[in-house]
Parts: sequence; structure tokens; C-alpha cells
Amino acid sequence: MLKYVNHDIVFQEFPDEVTLAVNLSRCPNACPGCHSQYLWEDVGETLSLERLNAIAEKYGKTITCVSLMGGDNDPESVLLILSSFREAHPYLKTGWYSGHADLPRCFVNYPAPDYVKLGPWREECGPLSSPTTNQRLYHYFSDGSFEDITNKFWVKGLKL
Ligand code: SF4
Repeated sequence: MLKYVNHDIVFQEFPDEVTLAVNLSRCPNACPGCHSQYLWEDVGETLSLERLNAIAEKYGKTITCVSLMGGDNDPESVLLILSSFREAHPYLKTGWYSGHADLPRCFVNYPAPDYVKLGPWREECGPLSSPTTNQRLYHYFSDGSFEDITNKFWVKGLKL
């Protein structure tokens, strides 16, 4: 089950997108130095497809992307809700920020989100904007291929 605590409009998580980012709780990753420890708790409201639709529809065409931030406690629900959301909103891109280093096994069972960020927070490696980062941002295309676009953060000097 997915629960969300809050949401925000963000500009730097995905290059060239205005993103509605929904922050999910129940994070199982316990990264040392985590900046959002409140997301470790079992708090917030249940995130259903209907709820996500309602949040996104409030913003209308001012957003270009909707992303779930977290959800590693239940990746299958993340992928299911994002694929269903995209069917209903084909003009919006979808993204997922995972704190795992690898994709879950169930990833192949669903259409990939347009963007997937992988990797736990490691202070010594830095965020996506650091060339030494352990994290990766992938852009998935409709034919199933994908590209590692992490270096776009380095080129543009975006700070995450
Ligand atoms: S994945 Fe994110 S929220 Fe979860 S422990 Fe790591 S830094 Fe914190």
C-alpha cells in the first residue's frame, strides 16, 4: 500500500519538466544522512489512482509530468498506479524516484515511466548534480529503450 504525505511542484528533478512530485511515506531504505526521515514513518493518506488523478487535475496544464517520490515498500503499486495514470493523462509524462540501486523484478510487467531515478542517498557521492553521484536518472522511450541522462544535471549545473 502506498501512502503520501504531501506534494509539490518542482522544476529540477526531471530536466525540462514542470513536475507534480508526490512524496510517499513508509520508506524502507534508511539511508544514512536521509534529509526526509519523516518519510520513514507509516504516515499520510492512502494514495489511490483516484486520489492521484484528483491532485493532478487541480494543476491542469500547468504541469508536464507527475512523479511518485519513493514507494520502495511497494514498487508494484507504484508501477501500476503510474501506468494507469498515464492511460488517463496521455499528455503528461510520469516519473519515479526510487531509493533502490536496482529496478524491482516486477518492472518488466508494466510500461516504464518516462523517467526513473535509481540509487540511495550516499552523502559521500553527492546528489544527481554531482559527477561523483551513485544515483542515476534514466529516460525511458515508448519502444522500451532507455537512456542514462544523469549527465544532463552536470551539463546544466542544476542543483538538486
Ligand atoms: S530513499 Fe530517500 S527518503 Fe528513503 S531513506 Fe533514502 S534518502 Fe531518505
